[in-house]
Amino acid sequence: MSTIPITDRTRIRRLPERQQTDRDQLYAALDDGFVAHVAVVRDGYPVVLPVGYGRAGDDLYLHGSTGSGIFREIADGRPIAVCITHLDGLVFARSAFDSSMNYRSVMVLGHATVLDGEEKEAALEAIVEHLIPGRWAEVRPTSKRELAATLVLRMPLAEASMKVRAKGASEEEDDGEDRSVWAGVLPILRVAGEPEASDLTPAEVAVPASVRQAAAKLEGAFAGSTF
Ligand SMILES: Cc1cc2nc3c(=O)[nH]c(=O)nc-3n(C[C@H](O)[C@H](O)[C@H](O)COP(=O)(O)OP(=O)(O)OC[C@H]3O[C@@H](n4cnc5c(N)ncnc54)[C@H](O)[C@@H]3O)c2cc1C
Repeated sequence: MSTIPITDRTRIRRLPERQQTDRDQLYAALDDGFVAHVAVVRDGYPVVLPVGYGRAGDDLYLHGSTGSGIFREIADGRPIAVCITHLDGLVFARSAFDSSMNYRSVMVLGHATVLDGEEKEAALEAIVEHLIPGRWAEVRPTSKRELAATLVLRMPLAEASMKVRAKGASEEEDDGEDRSVWAGVLPILRVAGEPEASDLTPAEVAVPASVRQAAAKLEGAFAGSTF
């Protein structure tokens, strides 16, 4: 089992038993997500923005417009923090104090570097394939103008932490023996809706494999789907 090294900055201090150091679990949590929140210090104050991302091996990839404020800042090599969070359940305890959430959350610290040439195109493919698997092969090639308008960055998973809560409701000793208040977990699942074709898509064009695969990435999405 490959482990994620813990550094002074990534050591979880509160409930340290929730620190997950199995690298495969880290990959799984990253591959299961869609949105990363990227934090950067701008003119002395913190800014956090949501962005899509991709992963290949031990690298995260981010992309944005060359005109985007945060991407221009990240591109200058300043330190950033990237956070990906999954809410897996609401935990109903018999006290408000012990009420909680089940979650998997990842934080990556470091610097991103700007990619060019073949690395840039490979990273864009990784982002597209992460968000909508199979789509890269379905769409036309990215044009030179589109590539020039897009900043693509690599963020190594060199310094990362993962925290997980995956259990039922906790009890306090002074909760007493009265168990008349329901306690347990309400699992939170993601579900895709039916695909909605654009007005310009002819009716005879079938829903492609990438849409099915994107839906499959969402837990339970295929259960009642008719497409
Ligand atoms: C689900 C999701 C995925 C996204 N994926 C990408 C991506 O992959 N690449 C990308 O470039 N952009 C993405 N965006 C948009 C991104 O969050 C920024 O809006 C974008 O990067 C351009 O910001 P800007 O240059 O105007 O912002 P900046 O100049 O960096 O920000 C100026 C101010 O605008 C406000 N602001 C900017 N964006 C947001 C926001 N999303 N929500 C609320 N306030 C905001 C903030 O107050 C911020 O301080 C995504 C947004 C969402 C919600």
